[in-house]
Amino acid sequence: MTQGEPDARILNAAPWPFVPARLKFVLLTHAHLDHCGLLGRLMREGFSGPVYCTRFTAELARINLLNAARLSSDLFTEFDVRRINFVAVDEYSGFEFGRYIELTECLEAAFCLSSHIGGSCSIGIRWRANTTDSREIVFSGDLGQNTGANAPQPLLAPRQPLSMTPNYLVVESTYGSRVRDTAYGSEVARMADLERIVLDAIQRVPSDNAQGSACLVIPCFSIHRVQELLVDLHSLFEVRLKGRILAIRPAFEEPSHIEKTLQEGLRASRIESPQSILTYLSESDRERFHELFKRQEVISPDEKIKTRFVLTDLSAERKEEARKILQRAVRPSSLVRIRVFVDSPMSNRTTAVYQQELRKRDAGHPQRCLYRNPALKDHLGARDEADTDAILSKLFAGKSRRDTPAVEHEFLTYSLTFCNPEETETRIKAKTDALNIILSGSGMADVGPVTKHLERELPNPRSLVMLTGYTPGSSVAGRLRTFSKTGATGPEGVLQLPCKELPDSEIRARVEDVGPYYSGHTDQTGLLDFMFTTSGPAPQGDIATTVFVNHGDNEVRNKLRTAIMARASEKRNVERQVNAVEVPGRDHRWFDLNEDRWLPLEPESPEETRDKLLIQIYMEQRRTNDLLSELLRANRDSRRA
Ligand SMILES: [Zn+2]
Ligand SMILES: [Zn+2]
Repeated sequence: MTQGEPDARILNAAPWPFVPARLKFVLLTHAHLDHCGLLGRLMREGFSGPVYCTRFTAELARINLLNAARLSSDLFTEFDVRRINFVAVDEYSGFEFGRYIELTECLEAAFCLSSHIGGSCSIGIRWRANTTDSREIVFSGDLGQNTGANAPQPLLAPRQPLSMTPNYLVVESTYGSRVRDTAYGSEVARMADLERIVLDAIQRVPSDNAQGSACLVIPCFSIHRVQELLVDLHSLFEVRLKGRILAIRPAFEEPSHIEKTLQEGLRASRIESPQSILTYLSESDRERFHELFKRQEVISPDEKIKTRFVLTDLSAERKEEARKILQRAVRPSSLVRIRVFVDSPMSNRTTAVYQQELRKRDAGHPQRCLYRNPALKDHLGARDEADTDAILSKLFAGKSRRDTPAVEHEFLTYSLTFCNPEETETRIKAKTDALNIILSGSGMADVGPVTKHLERELPNPRSLVMLTGYTPGSSVAGRLRTFSKTGATGPEGVLQLPCKELPDSEIRARVEDVGPYYSGHTDQTGLLDFMFTTSGPAPQGDIATTVFVNHGDNEVRNKLRTAIMARASEKRNVERQVNAVEVPGRDHRWFDLNEDRWLPLEPESPEETRDKLLIQIYMEQRRTNDLLSELLRANRDSRRA
């Protein structure tokens, strides 16, 4: 699917250069709409075969396509999306990334991790070209930054190098003309920047309720970016800044909470998670505390070891003494409570998919996680992989339906809430001495719940906006990025938000851009490494690869082509050989993969035209029948109701 270009609508509705009903199956690399966005239209126009991909991709693609159908239904409807038959290859017995599986009698496919978004893969296809010869084509899909040598991005296992020497390689080129600053490939640099921004936001929280609240608004893509931000924020609060946050945020904040906890705690003669209280006791109080309470370690239902303190003497006198000590531990004037909200309905759904899939193990090696970065454990401060699972089950809880109540989790240093957009606003207004961090869609900030948060917070000098993704110049996020650099959103000096025009002079919030750290695309160096290095045995001398460069604008593709030719001419020793680089345009023809050549453009014969029209009429009639039976079913259901 073409996105963001002026003629996108026309291109996406253009006739297919094939008959959809004749396709046997589709192989899908990942769930972004520029890759799967026309599956609904394929269904609508007669395709009925399986779509092979990972379970992760299938779940995300379905959410993404249903959302796309709701937003603009001229190409396909929710009905078409529901009929897509996704087949999860990673649920086949004996499945392994990089290993070929048979899809039809003479064709096999292999899925290799590409570390771009959850479930994303490069796909190799091997087929019999004739009785003796088999051939191979690899589609890179979109390639992420994490490699075996350097995997700075938190969530996904490194992308797999290709072991094979394919006859053809179709490669993406989004950043094919750019070599990225190495800082953007560094976890240390990313976390330091994030820490600087979050500490700035904490400083802005007013100590006096009357002065209003501070917000950090983070426009985020629902697929992958929200989840990356959630683990980075968790790492920041619970690992890197834990001591400092606890020092300014005791466990009991609100007077009613203190009273309740003390009374319940003392009634039950024990106090849970007491670390933060202890940091707030004077030395003599702390000594007396240890005399009054006995330390106990218990295993909680989620299998974490928890420390609690149990009152040893239950006399009224001792209880009263304990109460006084604990009350002295609380200093309501210096409290900052950190609350994180995820409130876009689509993010709430996709995050639940990440929770499920990132905990999945390899069927053949039950110890090995299928998708996640081995470094995630340390990033989250987990003891082992089981502990990482436990953290992810809260951190990525999500919420699969709009009409279910908000899902809330308390961590030691912050709270996390998955809710609907209206609820975020209510909760923010209900409490002021807190830092509210709002992760909301859309990433480019043009549509979705984040626009309301921006309308409210951009004029607030206590607030911050942090951009996290691709920000094309004309989008709201793009204009805010320009604002962060130049102090103006553009020549007009007015930011157009959906329900409001905001002059630059009224933007008082601070704007920061951390997008380049999170880019899901590798740069030119990474693309060349993917094309030329092989993890398998040294390539056979007689096979050279033809590369097709796609998925990038023409200037970028041609620059990458030049870089590929330069590297190929070096003929480095153990590298894959490339003998040709094609940059196909929109008017290109079919390429014969058995004969290595572009086919001449032949005018369609009258018979072919007639056949095509007949198939089209048949398919449209069939769809009409499908829609009629859907209507009848809906009628029946509503009568029953
Ligand atoms: Zn993508
Ligand atoms: Zn893409």
